[in-house]
Amino acid sequence: MQTPLCSKCAWSESLCSTCSAKRASGAMSNLDIEVSRILYKINEQHNITMAQFSHAADLGEVVLVFTPGEAGLLIGRGGKVVSALSSALGKRVRIVTESGDARKSLEDLITPAKVLGINEVWSDGKEKMRVRLAKEDEPYLKVKPAHLEELVSRWMGKPIEVVFE
Ligand SMILES: [Zn+2]
Repeated sequence: MQTPLCSKCAWSESLCSTCSAKRASGAMSNLDIEVSRILYKINEQHNITMAQFSHAADLGEVVLVFTPGEAGLLIGRGGKVVSALSSALGKRVRIVTESGDARKSLEDLITPAKVLGINEVWSDGKEKMRVRLAKEDEPYLKVKPAHLEELVSRWMGKPIEVVFE
């Protein structure tokens, strides 16, 4: 299984020097640690050894769990894995895939709001992705635009700008 936390730390109360450094630098959050530990426990029951988890984001009522791999592995047959994760966290969980179609991932993330378009733009000599959303969908967004920009730029590897029109 691929998680930000190493397998040794998943089963101990303390963190090894590598994992402590990751946490100190902000590369790994406490939520990432919690989700990793839960996934290792789930792996004992439902085999999810092939699953990949990169990071999680707490949006209040829902926790987003990002995977660079296949979302299906973290969802599980009949949603077994995602519901075990959800009951351990005490919150709804949504699995978001970071690979493949960026637009599809973004749509999964912001549903029921719709993506009008994604354009590459240049500003101040830097490439940016401009994500266009409908003004009337703004109230349905569970993520604040600034937070959405941060989340999406993390997996797209580029700065993102969210605009409503
Ligand atoms: Zn470790």
